[in-house]
Amino acid sequence: MAVPVGIDLGTTNSLVARLENGQPTIVPNARGGRSTPSVVGLDASGRLHVGASARAQLLTHPDRTVAEVKRSMGTTERVRLGDRTYTPTEVSGLVLRALKEDASLALGDTVEEAVVTVPAYFTDAQRQATKDAGELAGLRVERILNEPTAAALAYGIDRLDAEEHVVVYDLGGGTFDVSVLEMFGGVLDVKATAGNNRLGGGDFDRLLVDHLRAEILRTHGADLRGDARAMARLLAAAERAKMELSDARSAVIDLPLLAPNVSFRTEVSRATFDALVEELVRSTLTCLDAALADAKIAKGTVSEIVLVGGSSRVPLVRQRVAEYFGKEPRTHVNPDEAVALGAAIQMGLKTGGISAETGIMITDVAPFTLGVETQSRAGSQTVYGTFAPIIPRNSTVPVSRTERFSTTADGQKSVTVRVFQGESRYTKNNVFLDEYTIDGVPPSLAGRESVAITFTYDINGILDVTTEVVSTGKKASLVIDKSPRRMTDEERSAARARLDREWGSAPAPTPVAPSAADEGLTALVAVAKEKLSATSSASLEALVAEAERAVAAGDRAKIVELDAKLTEALFALDG
Ligand code: AMP
Repeated sequence: MAVPVGIDLGTTNSLVARLENGQPTIVPNARGGRSTPSVVGLDASGRLHVGASARAQLLTHPDRTVAEVKRSMGTTERVRLGDRTYTPTEVSGLVLRALKEDASLALGDTVEEAVVTVPAYFTDAQRQATKDAGELAGLRVERILNEPTAAALAYGIDRLDAEEHVVVYDLGGGTFDVSVLEMFGGVLDVKATAGNNRLGGGDFDRLLVDHLRAEILRTHGADLRGDARAMARLLAAAERAKMELSDARSAVIDLPLLAPNVSFRTEVSRATFDALVEELVRSTLTCLDAALADAKIAKGTVSEIVLVGGSSRVPLVRQRVAEYFGKEPRTHVNPDEAVALGAAIQMGLKTGGISAETGIMITDVAPFTLGVETQSRAGSQTVYGTFAPIIPRNSTVPVSRTERFSTTADGQKSVTVRVFQGESRYTKNNVFLDEYTIDGVPPSLAGRESVAITFTYDINGILDVTTEVVSTGKKASLVIDKSPRRMTDEERSAARARLDREWGSAPAPTPVAPSAADEGLTALVAVAKEKLSATSSASLEALVAEAERAVAAGDRAKIVELDAKLTEALFALDG
């Protein structure tokens, strides 16, 4: 029987979880890892890779590798992998496909159905793109679940008797979400959510890269901006240093042969890093203010702060959040795994894997206001492009609301409904979702006829709009889900066929244990090979061959030893 799973489709890493004897557990990938990098790469022989092997080539072949595609979901951007182009939805489809196959391998059973999580702040288009990605991977997406809501489920499952206010602060690789919940008798009631779907650890990395690049320009006179490979190595080193700085007071960055005549070594202190990211961290506190105000909950009454997302490990983040609430945040929930575990719980609620007696229940809210464009009058002036809210943000979902709008011109026969989401009074500052025109309005004097517009926002965050001409009862409807900017059924099957074909040539997953060390050495080998194409060095060649054998054999001790030797050899060659 197919195993239902929960999937955290992350900006940086993705995780799969399932319910085992009523408890959520992580399903390891084919390499034995608990998470899989959300990276897709095309290798020299035209094979697609997902995960650690793709991430390893991010350093050597950034032109054929894509990371953080989640940031582009729901946009019309195109992703280049060598000579091929993909939509962000297709790239996410590839990630999901790899997760599905790995999970099937680990479980010895098929995986067909999943709850997939998204940041609460994902728009309608981003949610739909995520659903489409699931279908491209051959998964039935049972539910799109907000990440902080999933994290709250993982937290709440062990505290069914608690009665308290809880804040989930979720800072991941590319998105930030905060949710304010009220818990009582096993019910998790999301009161409000706020966030920024373009803020995360990736921004911390980029700030550090900018800082390092300026230092290289100052010390070596080299501007690395145009050097994609050097920039990719710098970015990887910056991320590593950032992570080290979560435990240590300083981190060494050592990049031999970063660019022609540039071997770069420096030390970054935690204070320097903190100063770089301080402003971004502060901006998350503004979101906390907004969510608490919407929830009408005073911060002093919050008894638990649950930190989620890899970037919540940054000490400055913890410090600022602790100062904000005047108490230490909770750390017993694994920040990397809570979302996937929560998704598995949600799947369990759906399939009955978690019984009703367990008594957990969760409600969620619409993260932003939904409405239509209207005209308004200011004195004798007509103001166009005014936003008329229909569903206010943070309404509990599912929610259905109706508003009436009158005709604005004499003899008007049709009405155009333009749907937006956002918080501004003017539609130009909000996100346009869709538009359609209904006709059959009986001609009359301006303001005499009216249409009733009903918005229904479901638990997946998908909007359905219906309208009715009040005097005639004529109905028209639009499901944002099926808007023309989305993939049509034909497009979806064409894309799926293409991915089936291309994925078919992907390597079978090799069940070896993951290691940052062998990835590091693989990257170093690639740099050495490049060097060898320009210079001949028998000793370097021998080291490269030895390194490749060590990686293939998974010989840890040798990998560490050869990493040092190869670094030294590259240094020597440069000097
Ligand atoms: P997530 O999207 O939740 O997987 O979070 C990934 C982000 O967390 C990436 O930007 C990582 O660089 C960051 N991250 C992971 N571990 C750490 C750590 N120990 N310290 C700082 N940032 C981290």
